[in-house]
Amino acid sequence: MIELNIIGMTGGIGSGKTQVSLFFAELGISVVDTDQISRELVKSGSSNLQEIVAFFGSDILLTNGELNRSKLRQIIFSKPDKKQWLEALLHPQIRKLAWQQLAACHSSYAILVVPLLIESQHYDFVDRILVVDCEEDLQIERVMQRDQNDRSVAKGIISSQLTRKQRLSQADDVIENNGTLAELKDKVRQLHEYYQELAELRD
Ligand code: ATP
Repeated sequence: MIELNIIGMTGGIGSGKTQVSLFFAELGISVVDTDQISRELVKSGSSNLQEIVAFFGSDILLTNGELNRSKLRQIIFSKPDKKQWLEALLHPQIRKLAWQQLAACHSSYAILVVPLLIESQHYDFVDRILVVDCEEDLQIERVMQRDQNDRSVAKGIISSQLTRKQRLSQADDVIENNGTLAELKDKVRQLHEYYQELAELRD
């Protein structure tokens, strides 16, 4: 049992989850990021990477021996059985490590970042769902700039994800990220105050 509120944070690609986590971390709040955990689980030399190579073949690796994540993403995008295999390998480990990291948190509440929180059944233990929401045009621009992608790639990923409306319908709290970074930081600070009040009520 974890004795602090866990805020599950989600949002579409490029909506600003990483940026928001950095602002929470600056306020001294522990952030557990499932995307980061999954990267660590498949790093060079890991037994997971060996299993992935045995299943997908060695051309799933980059020349430096690391996993070619974008190639893997493309394959599982069109092959549901392979996606299922990969999820069965990694999801239980990600969930277990996330839980262990949350149990070790000492802040007044914790943020758990899960890009597919609403789609997944593995994180029903979160106390609240925080959605980072951003207008689609801005989302596309930010992803194109960050990943040096074409518009069609960014649009394709967005259309494969839940719609903003579907995500927002499940939200307890929403951070709208259509403005500047300074505005975003201020919204995080306001929400932080609210989450601290909730933490006091819990005690
Ligand atoms: P992913 O789902 O791909 O992990 P994400 O939700 O974590 O994405 P970020 O990486 O935080 O999104 O943001 C996407 C890009 O947009 C980053 O380059 C980030 O610095 C930038 N960004 C986020 N919010 C703002 C903002 N309010 N103003 C300007 N740039 C922003």
